[in-house]
Amino acid sequence: MTTSFADERLHEAMARIRRFLDHDRPDTPCLVIDLPTVRDRFAAIRAALPRVGIFYAVKANPTPDVVGLLAAEGSSFDVASPAEIDLCLARGAAPEAISYSNPIKKARDVAYAYGRGVRLFVSDSEQDVRVLAEHAPGASVLLRILVDSSGSTYPFGKKFGCSPEMATDLLRLAAELGLVPLGVAFHAGSQQLDPNGWDGAIADAAVIIGKLRAEGLSPTTVNLGGGLPAGYLTQPPPLAEYAAAITASIARHFGDFSPEVMIEPGRAIVAESGLIRSEVVLVSRKSYSDEHRWVFLDIGRYGGLAETEGEAIAYPLVTSRDGVPQAGAPVGPVVLAGPTCDADDVLYQNTCYELPLDLRAGDHVDLLGAGAYTASYSSVAFNGFPPLATHCVR
Ligand SMILES: *Cc1c(COP(=O)(O)O)cnc(C)c1O
Repeated sequence: MTTSFADERLHEAMARIRRFLDHDRPDTPCLVIDLPTVRDRFAAIRAALPRVGIFYAVKANPTPDVVGLLAAEGSSFDVASPAEIDLCLARGAAPEAISYSNPIKKARDVAYAYGRGVRLFVSDSEQDVRVLAEHAPGASVLLRILVDSSGSTYPFGKKFGCSPEMATDLLRLAAELGLVPLGVAFHAGSQQLDPNGWDGAIADAAVIIGKLRAEGLSPTTVNLGGGLPAGYLTQPPPLAEYAAAITASIARHFGDFSPEVMIEPGRAIVAESGLIRSEVVLVSRKSYSDEHRWVFLDIGRYGGLAETEGEAIAYPLVTSRDGVPQAGAPVGPVVLAGPTCDADDVLYQNTCYELPLDLRAGDHVDLLGAGAYTASYSSVAFNGFPPLATHCVR
């Protein structure tokens, strides 16, 4: 395989996970997170971007042990709800290390956050800025701008952010209302495959910050959001290319002024630490002439594999029949589907997967790179299948 799963540390991580699975034999499907890999990924991002504040996006994987490990390593946190604030505080994060980065929040949730000591918020609307002024007086606010996220596998569309012109006005309003107009935030789209994917937004942020500083306000900060990628069936460019592109872009657009920089990685910290073990429920064919077998797993779109929608994320697969990836047993093409009675619960029918011809019910299929946006997406027991269980190994 050409993915980073060939790299030695990940090999060791997958071996630790398999030892746990073979020894404890937990019910499937389940997600197993290798905590040393989470620590490695965090350290790699910190080393690549040494002057940047790292705020782990909790939604990528809210497992308490993951949050606790990252707090102990000195990470800060990007949260979206009171429950995520409670989780971070309970696992050792300081309130100053939390950014309430969801622009969509109730007034009482803002008041709750403020009561727990959170003083940094992201906003993108006049209503929310006014809510912050009332319920989080004196807090710092970043205004989120709409950006072009075309290089990303999961663009954020238009749901979050406002035009640079409006963001500039709202930062002025924030100052008038007694808030600290800290700067500009954005999200360049998740699994951003273009290392230059942050450039346009950094340019916009520099213009906004420059304009407000010329007026006598003192915004200092640009929040680069998420988007750092993880390796799946195909590998993104190396982290060093992202760090170089981002650093150069900040220097180019901000010139002499050197801003405070935040980044909110989610996927890049946890994806590669996780393996989902699933079990084959059924292997079948739709006609005598169809070369494809249908392989139904005990996990699907509603059990944690939401990111297979549009086949955007293609997880590397390893079965209990092939031992070493892609070696050994003769293979043939398959369509992969989940176990529910929902017609959309098909994982891959266009992405080319070939699995061993002798694969049968009861065999395991392991999905690699599955630590991000899996357990956190499977919170409902659709069709009676329970939410995805998470185990951690250290
Ligand atoms: C989800 C999210 C992130 C994390 O995005 P990744 O692409 O997983 O790094 C960061 N910031 C905000 C505001 C988010 O909503």
